[in-house]
Amino acid sequence: MRFDIITILPELFKSAFSGGIIKKALEKGTIEIHIHNLREFTVDKHQQVDDRPYGGGEGMVFKPEPVFAAVEKVKQSEETAVYLLSPQGKKFDSQFAEELAHHPQLILICGRYEGVDERMIQHLVTGEISIGDYILTGGEPAAVVVVDAVSRFIPQVVGKPESVRHDSFVEGLLSFPQYTRPRDFKGMKVPRVLFSGNHDKIRLWRRKKSLEKTLSVRPDLLKDKKLSPADKKILEEIKKGKDNESG
Ligand code: SAM
Repeated sequence: MRFDIITILPELFKSAFSGGIIKKALEKGTIEIHIHNLREFTVDKHQQVDDRPYGGGEGMVFKPEPVFAAVEKVKQSEETAVYLLSPQGKKFDSQFAEELAHHPQLILICGRYEGVDERMIQHLVTGEISIGDYILTGGEPAAVVVVDAVSRFIPQVVGKPESVRHDSFVEGLLSFPQYTRPRDFKGMKVPRVLFSGNHDKIRLWRRKKSLEKTLSVRPDLLKDKKLSPADKKILEEIKKGKDNESG
């Protein structure tokens, strides 16, 4: 999959993709990330990308011409998705990330200042993406979040696909807790069930912990989730406070 990021601050991305799984995916060619300096799509000598808002008011707004020109140059096909990072966009979540991973190309436009000329939203982009209900100084940190999360859903980016399946939110629940050696760290012990070798028991324990954490921290996730009869039973037990520990 190919990502194209349109920004007035390309230098912000220098280290963002230079390590870990994303770096490996770039080296393998599983993903491509191209950073485009919006100023290179201006035609005036000052390379102006912004202007004052009509009607008055604080701050500056991205002019439409350079952004339309950048998208026109970079867009490869009708299957390309073009998104503006914006606090007014659709809330980014795991399902949204997975959907975006089906496109061969994703173009991300990073706003700055007071935002962008509305004609980009009405006539240029597929949609707007918000990474949360807060205001960033620019779309660049949000673009890094989107590229990273979408990449996890591209086959071969994450070494073991089952680790993506077990991630929080992928199945609509938070993930179960993980432990590694030592078994006893300053008196804090790893639950015995995890080294019992009994895979059914481990699976059941993990499912219970996953449901328990989701119920305690993100009960909203359980509201619309279709639970199996086994999950319902576990949840009832958790709610009743019954100790169902197998370890
Ligand atoms: N005045 C705008 C508003 O109230 O909607 C906010 C502009 S913000 C200071 C500048 C840019 O940062 C936005 O155009 C957008 O690209 C980016 N941005 C800010 N918050 C964001 C968020 N929560 N998610 C995605 N992008 C965001």
